[in-house]
Amino acid sequence: MKKIQMVDLKGQYDQIQEQVNQSVLNTIASTQFINGPQVKDFQEHLESYLNVKHVIPCANGTDALQIALMGLGLKPGDEVITADFTFAATVEVISLLGLTPVLVDVDPATFNIDLESVEKVISPKSKAIIPVHLFGQAADMEGIMALAEKHNLYVVEDNAQSIGADYTFNDGSKKRTGTIGDIGTTSFFPSKNLGAYGDGGAIFTNNDELAHTIRGMVNHGMYVRYHHDVVGVNSRLDSVQAAILDIKLKYLDYYNESRKAAALKYNQRLKDHPNLIIPYRKGDCDSHVYHQYTLRVIDADRDGLVQHLNNNNIPCGIYYPIPLHQQKAYTSERYKAEDFKVTLQIVNEVISLPMHTELSDDQIDFITDTIKEFLGQTLAV
Ligand SMILES: *Cc1c(COP(=O)(O)O)cnc(C)c1O
Repeated sequence: MKKIQMVDLKGQYDQIQEQVNQSVLNTIASTQFINGPQVKDFQEHLESYLNVKHVIPCANGTDALQIALMGLGLKPGDEVITADFTFAATVEVISLLGLTPVLVDVDPATFNIDLESVEKVISPKSKAIIPVHLFGQAADMEGIMALAEKHNLYVVEDNAQSIGADYTFNDGSKKRTGTIGDIGTTSFFPSKNLGAYGDGGAIFTNNDELAHTIRGMVNHGMYVRYHHDVVGVNSRLDSVQAAILDIKLKYLDYYNESRKAAALKYNQRLKDHPNLIIPYRKGDCDSHVYHQYTLRVIDADRDGLVQHLNNNNIPCGIYYPIPLHQQKAYTSERYKAEDFKVTLQIVNEVISLPMHTELSDDQIDFITDTIKEFLGQTLAV
């Protein structure tokens, strides 16, 4: 059996090596390292994949979030509501811009932002909500959009972990996550579902005006060369990364299918275990692209399980071990423990298993057997 890895970038590269090498060499030979035709090609292909009017590539997923908020023209003191249980980048950019982050609890089933908690913190200062489609699963966009409309709030979807997921509306229609709110953002960090061979990110919107504003902002606030109308940043996706991403985009559905297949195998082997809660999935599989496969460990020693897996050369991750409202940089007197019951509980229960496009059946068998061995249960069929 191949050595088990949390993410197998080498195995994935091996399958597309020739195409990628050729395209990288061509890009280098062209010497159009910045804003080469590869960037425009990738942008257009991603627009059609996502069925969104505008994709604006940028340097990374954190920049994408920051620039999205800049594009909305929010003022210092404006409040932006987001989930307590996410990667810090989401809240970091809010604070960095002098806006006030308002963290709220999450739903125990999906780990995504909890709508009742959002509604409780809405104030006259609230200007935007950032739902995060965490671990590959679409947040409740229909509920979020309704709430946003009622209170006149912008919605910026942090889609760093869920590119390629579909959100299904109550009427059965579907849209890609990241294309439903005013703006969506993503990251092409190498381990993301669509990963570059370095850093990268993108911003999506169907709003022509916002797209125009943002395109200038990523380029020093320039709309006409050397005319700086607004304060911008320098945030670009480079041509080599765009060339690689353009190849990998063709395989994104296949990659996401491979992740789903691995998740379903994990589910099969772990579903009836009394100490485990397998990932929730709404209706069909399309709403979840399994950036992570995250279990909750109930009434058992989660940290002991981590140790046991590591002792058996099985990597695993705790995403995320500390609620954001307890992080030194983001804590505030406004937060009360009773408002974060779910996050405070799940940070002690979650464990993310190896998840990537190259997991084999025997690896999944070994991982799940090792988990059951620790939890002291006999093997289910
Ligand atoms: C990865 C990630 C980001 C940041 O992306 P970078 O490209 O690493 O800057 C933002 N939000 C979430 C939820 C992420 O997982």
